[in-house]
Amino acid sequence: MTGALVALEFAAAGVGVCLVEAALGGRGSTAASSALLLQEPDQSLRHLATRYGAAASRRIWTLSRDAVRDFVDLLRRRRIACDLEERDALYYATTAEAARRLQREFADRSRAGFQGEWLAAERVRRAAGIAASGAIRTTGNAQFQPYEACLGILAAAAASGARIFERSRAIRIDARRTHVHVRTRRGSIAARRVVVATGYATGRFKPLAGRFRMYDTYVLATAPLAAADRRAIGLGDVMLWDTERPYHYARWTADHRLLLGGGDRPVTRGRRRAARFAEATRQLRDDFDAVLPLAGIGVERAWEGLFAITPDSLPYIGAHRRYPGHLFALGYGGNGMTFGFLAARMLREQWQGVISTDHDLFRFGRLR
Ligand SMILES: Cc1cc2nc3c(=O)[nH]c(=O)nc-3n(C[C@H](O)[C@H](O)[C@H](O)COP(=O)(O)OP(=O)(O)OC[C@H]3O[C@@H](n4cnc5c(N)ncnc54)[C@H](O)[C@@H]3O)c2cc1C
Repeated sequence: MTGALVALEFAAAGVGVCLVEAALGGRGSTAASSALLLQEPDQSLRHLATRYGAAASRRIWTLSRDAVRDFVDLLRRRRIACDLEERDALYYATTAEAARRLQREFADRSRAGFQGEWLAAERVRRAAGIAASGAIRTTGNAQFQPYEACLGILAAAAASGARIFERSRAIRIDARRTHVHVRTRRGSIAARRVVVATGYATGRFKPLAGRFRMYDTYVLATAPLAAADRRAIGLGDVMLWDTERPYHYARWTADHRLLLGGGDRPVTRGRRRAARFAEATRQLRDDFDAVLPLAGIGVERAWEGLFAITPDSLPYIGAHRRYPGHLFALGYGGNGMTFGFLAARMLREQWQGVISTDHDLFRFGRLR
């Protein structure tokens, strides 16, 4: 998704673009995504303010909120068919203590000018069917079908002049003084810059790997549910996520499946992987059984995906002094769609020589 958005943003600005994709467009973590476009970053305003100060924290939240709005606008303007729907989101707490913390966060948000509404337990139950101690309801979020959206964005990028090469892994990148050479098995591209949008630092960028912690994340999907079952569950047309860490989230799909996700765990590979998958998806189901009336509702599909978290849960967007000629857009945590969109815009600005304090918020080396 990030590569597609970067290709579109640059091509639409009149820049010559080649996109090389090792496999097929939209088949990376984008295809696995549950695609909640949440305007709230994973980190609370308060947490980010402690780290970076109130003004920076407010700006990060504003950029994230505006990215969702503008991404929705782009999908509409380009008429990309992807079951796009605007949805309110409920960020809920399950215990009284968590609800008290969430109320403090709500007060911080209100003071900083971010809209939202506080829902006490009974109103949460009526809106979403869940047993929670309280929630913040926000408008201006959205959901879509990520694979369809990605293919649509790739098509729009191609229509704007981007050249797209699938099954073309970049196996080597050589930076020269004025340009970079990106080599694939069957060809080579000379460009002024290369944008690396591989989700996280792959083996080619080993010195950067320590900045990312890799997690497996899990999703359960029911079969399409009849109206009576949907009513019995009680989840209305809202998206849910909770204050637990790792968090849980839920939403309906356009074809009336219930998607339940989260329960992230540090990545495991090797012999234990299948057992861990079974255990993690069972746990995820149990966690949702505790808050939603799901008795008798079966899971039709379950899958896991990989994602990278940075120490402050914000992506790295921009240059790195070790890699001349490169720009990076990596490490989004659970907000990859929103931040991927933001990354494309910020990199295009950087390319055009427009560098603002916004770029500092996401640069390598920002961490305190
Ligand atoms: C299960 C799951 C649920 C998620 N839910 C949400 C959600 O609700 N909301 C949200 O905002 N985000 C969510 N995310 C995160 C979001 O989906 C991702 O952050 C986003 O899709 C990342 O897109 P990307 O293009 O950066 O990475 P990817 O989609 O992984 O794409 C990276 C691409 O790089 C290619 N590649 C790698 N190496 C090379 C190379 N050497 N040469 C050429 N190509 C290469 C890969 O083939 C791949 O296609 C979720 C992620 C997962 C896994």
